[in-house]
Amino acid sequence: MPVSVFDLFSVGIGPSSSHTVGPMRAGASFAARVAGAPVAAVDVHLYGSLASTGHGHGTLGAVLAGLTGSDPETVDPDEMAASLAETERTGQLRLAGGTVVPLRQADIVLHPLTMLPRHPNAMRLVARDAAGTVLDEETYYSIGGGFVTSDGDAAPADTAAVAEAAIPVDDAVPYPFSSGAELLAACAASGLPVSGVALANETVTRTADEVRAGLLHVHDVMRESVERSIRRTGTLPGGLEVRRRAANWYEQLLRDDPHHDPLFAMEWVNLTAMAVNEENASGGRVVTAPTNGAAGIIPAVLSYALTYASEVAPDERDDAVVRFLLTAGAVGSIYKERASISGAEVGCQGEVGSAASMAAAGLAEVLGGTPEQVENAAEIAMEHNLGLTCDPIGGLVQIPCIERNAIAANKAINAARMALRGDGVHHVSLDQVVETMRQTGADMSTKYKETAMGGLAVNVPLC
Ligand code: SF4
Repeated sequence: MPVSVFDLFSVGIGPSSSHTVGPMRAGASFAARVAGAPVAAVDVHLYGSLASTGHGHGTLGAVLAGLTGSDPETVDPDEMAASLAETERTGQLRLAGGTVVPLRQADIVLHPLTMLPRHPNAMRLVARDAAGTVLDEETYYSIGGGFVTSDGDAAPADTAAVAEAAIPVDDAVPYPFSSGAELLAACAASGLPVSGVALANETVTRTADEVRAGLLHVHDVMRESVERSIRRTGTLPGGLEVRRRAANWYEQLLRDDPHHDPLFAMEWVNLTAMAVNEENASGGRVVTAPTNGAAGIIPAVLSYALTYASEVAPDERDDAVVRFLLTAGAVGSIYKERASISGAEVGCQGEVGSAASMAAAGLAEVLGGTPEQVENAAEIAMEHNLGLTCDPIGGLVQIPCIERNAIAANKAINAARMALRGDGVHHVSLDQVVETMRQTGADMSTKYKETAMGGLAVNVPLC
């Protein structure tokens, strides 16, 4: 079936879905796998982007937390930090199965210049017994958005292989689609909006009530991340001394715009996006949407829809949330299946670009757009993010990421507004722009794909 909306909108902790959430899941998976075996030591190797930006993205701590059995959806960020500090102090880590092994972050072996063939975000975990004999080993790939594959999985993980492979269309769902054209055809055949097609597919594995409750929970977590962030001041962790701005901006906006005059809409959108991303950058809990680095865009555009759209009646807000997220998820699944949502694979166009495209589609739908206008909105938002590089300063998900989410959220709103002024007929299709994004990402220098080896990361001094 198409990628589920609940895979694209998972709850996790910051700062990165591919470099924090994915590695934690991989560590937890490996720990569960070796539970019960006479493990005396675990070797951890990080490759490519995970190694080059792992310190800034919290990857090393995330792997260790995963090995202890922590789940990114449920772990308390403060408790995790305390547990990691204890591991660093003692040099002892308790695997999820209960066995204690000697392991701290300095023991993790980094291979920043080694790109494994399947994906630039790779990690290898090896369990040994007291004699040093290998008991088990696995190579994992964090392929973006918190998704993890391993050499034990059959599916190819690199973009070229994905593009060459026949994309499976599973007829277990009523409306299988893996492209914009197939999605539009499903809408035309069924008479359903994009959200209706997505809902019909989701209800193969969940009831409609469960889908609704799950998506409203996703929205609650988005709102909570904003609420927490606008109460936090000081600087973000990591050494760049980036000031948290959301709390101050919130106070200013409350004073300058107490009644949400539409003239201030853009500023509230900025605030919401930046609040989520400041929370993410500090390791807080956010919704991966579809990645952590791009987590602020969809909450900001959804908040805009609920605050300013006259099309959304007060008693229909929850319906609008569900329709928005289903539509955004339908578009996100196309990027996930046909290109990539990983900055390490295709640059920031795959993260912020995909999120903007998904948000534009969601907004167009709740503003009353036809499926063709929704597809147009998604296409416009990505078309004008093509080529966006990933060059985070210090390997931290802070500069340019935080402001970039605010810019992209407003771009998404503009894309939806432009699409709604048209009739859905347009020159460049969503599928063409998705393929262009994939090709552009494949051609992009590794320097600009989450390695912190080019762009702003090398042109802005760290002190
Ligand atoms: S620049 Fe974009 S892709 Fe890179 S870490 Fe920041 S948000 Fe993610």
